[in-house]
Amino acid sequence: MTKLIYAFGPGQADGPVGDPAILGHKGAGLATMACLGLPVPPGFILSKKALSICLDHGGQPSPALKKHIRAALNRISAISGRIFGDPAKPFLVALRLESGQLLSGTPASFLNIGLNPQTVEGIAALSGNRDFAYDQYRRFVSTYARRVLAMDAHQFSAIKPPPAQKGALHPSADASRQIIAAYQAAIAQTGQSAIPEDPYDQLWSILATLLTPTHQAQNHKTQDMVQDRAHSPATTAIIQMMVFDRLDAKSARGYAFSRHPQSGRPHPHGMIISSNGSLMDYSPANYSRANHSPADDRLQPLDRPDCLFPQSDSAQSSRKSPPKSLRQSSPWRAAVARQLSKICGQLEQHDQRVQAISFVIENGQLWLLKTENARLSARATIITAVDMAESGLIDQREAIMRVDPALLDRLLHASIASDVRPDIMTSGLPTSPGAASGIAVFSALEARRRGKDTPVILVKEATSPEDVYGMTKANGILTTSGGMSSHAAVIARALGRACVCSARDLRIDSQAKTLRIGATIINQGDTITIDGSTGAVIRGAVRLIDPDISGDFATLLDWADRYRRLKVRANAETREELETAARFGADGVGLCRTEHMFFDHERILTMQEMIMAKDEEGRRAALGKLLPIQRRDFIDLFAQLKNQPVTIRLLDPPLHEFLPRSEEEFTALSERMGIDRQTVRRRATRLAEANPMLGHRGCRLAITYPEIYEMQAQAIFEATLEATHRHGDNVALEIMVPLVSSLREMDFVKVIIDAVARRVFGQANTTIPYKIGPTVELPRAALCAREIAKISDFFSFGTNDLTQTVLGLSRDDAGTFIPTYREYAVFDADPFVTLDEKGVGTLIAQATQAGRQEQPGMIIGICGEHGGDPDSIRFCEKIGLDYVSCSPYRVPIARLAAAQSALQDSA
Ligand code: PEP
Ligand code: MG
Repeated sequence: MTKLIYAFGPGQADGPVGDPAILGHKGAGLATMACLGLPVPPGFILSKKALSICLDHGGQPSPALKKHIRAALNRISAISGRIFGDPAKPFLVALRLESGQLLSGTPASFLNIGLNPQTVEGIAALSGNRDFAYDQYRRFVSTYARRVLAMDAHQFSAIKPPPAQKGALHPSADASRQIIAAYQAAIAQTGQSAIPEDPYDQLWSILATLLTPTHQAQNHKTQDMVQDRAHSPATTAIIQMMVFDRLDAKSARGYAFSRHPQSGRPHPHGMIISSNGSLMDYSPANYSRANHSPADDRLQPLDRPDCLFPQSDSAQSSRKSPPKSLRQSSPWRAAVARQLSKICGQLEQHDQRVQAISFVIENGQLWLLKTENARLSARATIITAVDMAESGLIDQREAIMRVDPALLDRLLHASIASDVRPDIMTSGLPTSPGAASGIAVFSALEARRRGKDTPVILVKEATSPEDVYGMTKANGILTTSGGMSSHAAVIARALGRACVCSARDLRIDSQAKTLRIGATIINQGDTITIDGSTGAVIRGAVRLIDPDISGDFATLLDWADRYRRLKVRANAETREELETAARFGADGVGLCRTEHMFFDHERILTMQEMIMAKDEEGRRAALGKLLPIQRRDFIDLFAQLKNQPVTIRLLDPPLHEFLPRSEEEFTALSERMGIDRQTVRRRATRLAEANPMLGHRGCRLAITYPEIYEMQAQAIFEATLEATHRHGDNVALEIMVPLVSSLREMDFVKVIIDAVARRVFGQANTTIPYKIGPTVELPRAALCAREIAKISDFFSFGTNDLTQTVLGLSRDDAGTFIPTYREYAVFDADPFVTLDEKGVGTLIAQATQAGRQEQPGMIIGICGEHGGDPDSIRFCEKIGLDYVSCSPYRVPIARLAAAQSALQDSA
């Protein structure tokens, strides 16, 4: 039979101690502490079954359950020597519900149950403090009226708070009594029945109230989904003997942590809240969300002699210790601190997690009310996981599994200081993490110019390849359109810049160089801040916290490397990106987007010359100028890679992306090329496409203009020769052909490349191995994978375009409605962030299998943005891919996620 009640008391507890599935998290913690012989007020847990019996009876316990509860209260009597409801020696109880969600915030609770005109006298006599007893009673009556009788504040508006007594902790008993009488009169006026005097009746009615909160009436289906099941019903309830933090000057409550939750310092820390009132809100939500919560400063190492003195705000701000006289008069505080410190160690050893403990000190005696796994800052999570593994408390695998890879993002990028109250003007999609402040500029040119000596935020409707030279100089990028894999997002992530896209409330006037948000106008040169981790767009500059990578970060990733099977490559091509990739431990380059090598302003002009040329001869002339530049780039690339594999993708974007758009730029290009402006404009207009992502791009360019890929192949092979023969590098070269959809396309391009290889290597009288393969980013390529594999050496899934084409969802426009899709749970996740396993994932799995049927052992990876997403990486591990490739800043995340996926798979 399922047990209804699990009791706990000194040195013992019923049931599966420490099992939150049965006892709830709070109950499990209390039972554990009781069994360890720690000072826990005696009490009992009402199981889920008991609560469902109550719900079946309209919130009231059934007669049989009431009997069990009475028996459990008698057990408390046996321990405490007091009796619930007894006028002479009463004890009171607290009732606390635990919701179905782990750490969902403060559970519903009710204190001081059992007070009535008789028991209040009993409490007064036992505590020797009448003012205190009546103050508690006053609080109980007021809470009961509001919460159980659901009376409004205006019904009590005539009742004034009790006058404070100078130097006293409580109002006088008489003052409290008058207020209690006033409450009772107000209740009578409403016609409701009075607060029951019988302590058991109080308990039943309070239990019924807490179990049937008003939000449970809400059952609209869509609303349910939108609310994300925020209010799950209570799973367990705890009824526990009251201990009092407001009793006297030797009473207080506080929090202790077995290690510092923000810094990870490996010593117990604590703080106290004085007994004469609550000084601060230090709820778990408060300390977990912020990296540097002001609350941190109040935590003191428990081995400091004055650690458990309440810190008034003024003492805090001036950082003064309590006066010596006070310290000497309170030796009990030092004793409690020593006891707490020992308990922290004991609980951490037992749970093998950093513990957050709440406690009460009643007349100098310590009582523990709660222990739970502390919520740690990103930094503390890593530091403690590594430290615990190094000290042998947990093993390396456990340390790896404990760190959420997403936390690493917070350490790798600047964040807004937690005490800042930012003036948020609007928000958009958080497309590249980190926060940045700078002056708003409205063109890449301006970003380039002013970004040299001033931090700038580049603000545009969207960015394109020709903006990259300005983006590299910006601290952040803000756009009004575009999704998670739009141009701005992809480039910002590669560069490690903060980026917010699709901030749709913004109106940019690039002529007037202004940004309008409602009535607010931001002019070029005004300072703004963007937070690429939350999507916030903020007026002015705010205090930022620099990224903070400790040695433990590297240790954890080294351990991760021991366990991962998936390789992690980087999407990188510039020197800076390659350096970042190497620093973060990438296993080579999985995607070198060659078009990014043309973004430099001078090079783009030559590219434009090539595109604007009227015939093949003109194109070849311009390509001839690009050839040595490309060759140099590849030589540098190979030198930086130090023999690691590199996948070089041939030119992919539609040509018009390189072309000028404004009249000013048309003029500049016409002058440079010596052709008239009309012709330049006409040609640029003709090249513009209605749907460029599905237009003349990728290998389609090579089929119409083979000389482009010929030049690139020549540059690659000549660079390979030079790197190999002159510098002794061992180049593991893969040449990737974008946007392939058929065997014939692949074959057409392969013939061009192989011919160039024969020519270049023939002239040097040598040969160097290289691989050729497609970016599988169109559904047809995935469906015909077996056929395409016949002439391919590898596959790399371009999951950005594959997502776009499988879902029929433009990667540049999806930002407009994906938030709504997420809100209504139409999408569980943004498919441009987390791989759509059912659709895109199925195609990838099938194509992988087909490719390897044709060519056993074929190297297969992904190179879209999903390569840095932990959930997508888990999928890649599951289907046996060889590597993921992602932007350099996401390499650490991918290394950790890959290790976790491998460990999960082997578990
Ligand atoms: C892709 O499509 O997934 C890809 C990596 O290429 P790009 O983002 O450059 O289109
Ligand atoms: Mg692509």
